[in-house]
Amino acid sequence: MMRQYRRIKQDHGDAILFFRLGDFYEMFEKDAKEASALLNLTLTNRQNVPMCGIPYHASHNYIARLLKAGRKIAICEQITLPEGGRGIAERRVVEIITPGTVVDEDFLEKNSNNYLVSIGSTKTQFALAYIDLSTGDFQTTSFPWENRIEMLKKELARLAPKELLIQNTLCEDDPGVGRILDEYPDSMIGRYPDWSYDIETSGALLRKQLGVSNLKGFGIDEADPALLPIGVLLEYLEDTSKSLLRHVLSLKLYRGDDFVGLDESTQKNLELVKNLQDGGRKYTLLDVLDHTKTSIGARMLKKWLLSPLFDKKAIEERQLGADALYRNQLLLSSVREILSGVLDLERLSARVAMDRAHAKDLAAIKQSLLAAESLQELMSDWFNPWTTDAEKKAAINDVQSLLERAIHEDPSILLTEGRLIKTGFNKELDRLKNLKQNSQKVLESYLDEEKEQTKIGNLRIKYNRIIGYYLEVTKGNLSQVPKHFIRRQSLVGSERYTTDRLVELETKISGTTDQIIDLERELFLEVRHAVQERVPAILKLASWIGWLDCLCSLAQAATIHGYIKPSITNSPKIAIDDGRHPVVESYLPAGEFIPNSTHIDPRDVSFALITGPNMAGKSTYLRQVALITLMAQIGSFVPAREAEIGLVDRIYCRVGASDNLARGESTFLVEMNETAHILRSSTSKSLIIMDEVGRGTSTNDGLSIAWAVTEHLLEQSAKVLFATHFHELTFIEHPKKQNLALSIAEHGDEIVFLKKVKPGAVNHSYGIHVAKLAGVPREVVQRAEAILKKLLEHERQDALPEANDRIEEPQTSLFDQDDLLLKEIASVDVNSITPVEALNLINRWKLELNKQE
Ligand code: ATP
Repeated sequence: MMRQYRRIKQDHGDAILFFRLGDFYEMFEKDAKEASALLNLTLTNRQNVPMCGIPYHASHNYIARLLKAGRKIAICEQITLPEGGRGIAERRVVEIITPGTVVDEDFLEKNSNNYLVSIGSTKTQFALAYIDLSTGDFQTTSFPWENRIEMLKKELARLAPKELLIQNTLCEDDPGVGRILDEYPDSMIGRYPDWSYDIETSGALLRKQLGVSNLKGFGIDEADPALLPIGVLLEYLEDTSKSLLRHVLSLKLYRGDDFVGLDESTQKNLELVKNLQDGGRKYTLLDVLDHTKTSIGARMLKKWLLSPLFDKKAIEERQLGADALYRNQLLLSSVREILSGVLDLERLSARVAMDRAHAKDLAAIKQSLLAAESLQELMSDWFNPWTTDAEKKAAINDVQSLLERAIHEDPSILLTEGRLIKTGFNKELDRLKNLKQNSQKVLESYLDEEKEQTKIGNLRIKYNRIIGYYLEVTKGNLSQVPKHFIRRQSLVGSERYTTDRLVELETKISGTTDQIIDLERELFLEVRHAVQERVPAILKLASWIGWLDCLCSLAQAATIHGYIKPSITNSPKIAIDDGRHPVVESYLPAGEFIPNSTHIDPRDVSFALITGPNMAGKSTYLRQVALITLMAQIGSFVPAREAEIGLVDRIYCRVGASDNLARGESTFLVEMNETAHILRSSTSKSLIIMDEVGRGTSTNDGLSIAWAVTEHLLEQSAKVLFATHFHELTFIEHPKKQNLALSIAEHGDEIVFLKKVKPGAVNHSYGIHVAKLAGVPREVVQRAEAILKKLLEHERQDALPEANDRIEEPQTSLFDQDDLLLKEIASVDVNSITPVEALNLINRWKLELNKQE
């Protein structure tokens, strides 16, 4: 058996092999060690072979846990039992389950997509494709090689892939890419040789999958580098899912600039779908906006949040829908109620397409289509997806009426025990069912006959799985048992008998039962096949339902939180009157959030420098502007009294200091990386939120960097909100710069944070006051106050560059030049240096020093 195991395992080296042994799945050797640690199983050792096992019937739970840990599982079943119970059963791998290709609802998160990502590159282009097999969402993109790190970080943060397929040399030769992948320890990563990434093969496989002779209809050029990772992806799906992917009907080609650019740290810092504390959903924008009723809608809304639109028309189309629902609250609540009856049509269709759907799945489709019909009746024409597509409408009607007629009211989840098909759907099935029922009647009349003959009043016909039907005679009546009764079993209080006639009747009944089961199964597969043909129509309907659900969600959020419809323009101006932070306000008692306005227009003022004490509300104000802009660009209403949003192409949010130890980056390096990225990639249409740049290093270094960054951004005319504790920055004067401050009121020793933004500057951070509020021991606070007093006495304003005194020659180094020379001298190893090298060095130092003079 171990030889058989090792032979099978050889073909599935990257998977944990579940090897069926009777009622258990056993794991051996390396797999056993890994699985026992991951699943907390006892590791045993038989003849020096480590092994562990799980009961077959509880395997679901264990598989789910292994998938979560990013592992692939190969299920190996016994195909035939050995003859005469001796020898070894034939075994074969019947299913491969991987985190990125599962479609079973038990293994999926219902409100999130489950993406498998494939990455490849040519010398000049980098390409990334992704698919959610459980919904059919299939997209690809490419970007220039030099942007790969930035784009990869951004896309992976957005997609949160469960599994990655990657070109081998990318991991090995590109440390930057390798480090990004290291951050996804729970994602399964498969490496593929370079030759398997080939545009031509990809094109051919894609045409085959989509059933077309060329890709023009999808707007894709056959030589597009975005096709590169498609081949590996499709081949992998075919190998693992072992079924046709009839629901993967189109490939969408997208470009980085189709949506508002949100880099990885912006997605994180704005807490759009995950909070910074524990990565959970609480305290996120998604949590505030998501009032969807269906899983399709919930997934779509999450995608909307991470991909805001840049096209005014598309935004206004969503606004129009949300507004219509918002204005008609009766309609809104009726639609939402009906939506609650729609189940996950996308994932149900995927299971139908892949031959994995059982009868309960078809019953769920039936229920959802019924709800969809009521939705269409309720909505006016422009909301109805069928006004332009009569063919799809007919297909949906067909499926609905077929399922209505065919599927049992309370169907079984198995195909092997009947209860799949409704009475009245098929004449032969009805005849067999009648026959079965009649046989029961025949049994009853046979019992009456025997009772009559034997005069045993309490004679019964019963059934059990071991001996089948039998006649039961209690001990007191044994003397009346006739000769033709054949004893089968003796119990304490009774005896069990059969008769020739009973055996005959039993054969007839069980024959009919088997026939019924077989026919029901056959009819069910026919019905499923008919539904399969209509999957494209169902998927179209599903996406309309998701869209409607998202609009309802936005309308509902607007209703609950009192949002208004912003006006969207193509001008550079952002004007928000009495804006609020959507998440902070939702956690404060009603009316306690203090609204603040924002007026920023690069033609006039492009840069707002915000100062204020600790705890004054600077970060909240900054993020509120970014969130309101983002909400407006997904088509949502916004928390403000009035808002005019000039479309932005990118939103950057650099907030606070955070380490990225996995990537080998220190706090300050992360801060500078993000700053560099913003300065390099922002455009005049971007919105930049910068909170406390330069905080992660010494005061002088930090201030110098913040100062230089401010000057640079002022020249760029992007819209910038810049919060800082470097009060010196308020001295920079520039026509496009405005100083704003979060005001406080002082009452003697006490300070009240008014949380109100006003023009002006604050030159005090009140950090010690906040330390006192936080409960820092009194003696420490007092000592800090004394030190602060001393420092202020020695503060030398003249050490700073003069306000607005631009330094003409940009400084090439953050370090003092003399310092560098001294360090270099100190590091010279005089024992190993040659006289010529020493002379050269001295010469270079002289030149450097002369340059400085
Ligand atoms: P620090 O400089 O210490 O980082 P900060 O000025 O950035 O502080 P925030 O973190 O924005 O201050 O705000 C502090 C707290 O004040 C927030 O947690 C929030 O609960 C509350 N707050 C902020 N703005 C408002 C507001 N406009 N209305 C009501 N409460 C607010």
